[in-house]
Amino acid sequence: MSRILIVEDEFSISNFMKTVLEGDGYTVEVATCAAQARAALDRAEYHVLLLDLGLPDADGLELLRELRQRYALPVIVVSARTEESEKVAALDCGADDYITKPFGSPELLARIRAVLRRAGPAAGTTAFTTGALTIDYDKHLVTIEGKPVHLTANEYRLVELLSRSAGKVLTYDRISEAMWGDAAGGNSQLLRVNMANIRRKLEQNPAEPQYILTEIGVGYRMKEQN
Ligand code: CA
Repeated sequence: MSRILIVEDEFSISNFMKTVLEGDGYTVEVATCAAQARAALDRAEYHVLLLDLGLPDADGLELLRELRQRYALPVIVVSARTEESEKVAALDCGADDYITKPFGSPELLARIRAVLRRAGPAAGTTAFTTGALTIDYDKHLVTIEGKPVHLTANEYRLVELLSRSAGKVLTYDRISEAMWGDAAGGNSQLLRVNMANIRRKLEQNPAEPQYILTEIGVGYRMKEQN
């Protein structure tokens, strides 16, 4: 069973998360500061890290960057800050997802399941399916209800990129870097145009996309695999 480390200095929140997660069968430990978190991670193996960005003894983003380099485990940032720039910064520092306080137990459990699924043995897959959308990675072929969709090379790369991290928000900067080798500054318009074209081809109603969702001010998120 998966082991989860909660790094959170507010007892009411860590206790809520611990109760919910243990109730769902996870093994949970709590660290209340960065020092305890480092000690716990050196002592035992964990499968998910829930990280509060506002800790008494560390800058949250610096700690995130450090833990990302030292340990290979999914990190979900737990933040009271609702500022979009914070979410973007956390994702750019390597967070796999974020959850904003206050949140309920279904949302917490869903986020945990999603990062565990993505960390699972799906890396070598050759196909992706969500709803009526299928991507055949070998053939570079996208179909909707079995009918081929004609995408340009860039549009295909963008769809594949998002699908390989399905369920996870990719920031505009990260997408731009993967697509064009540099941050979004000069490419945001290009990205928007590509996305508009993709949605026109994939979505029944491009104004209410079902497959590639916009996280306003942050980036795009492909719907998770069926
Ligand atoms: Ca805190």
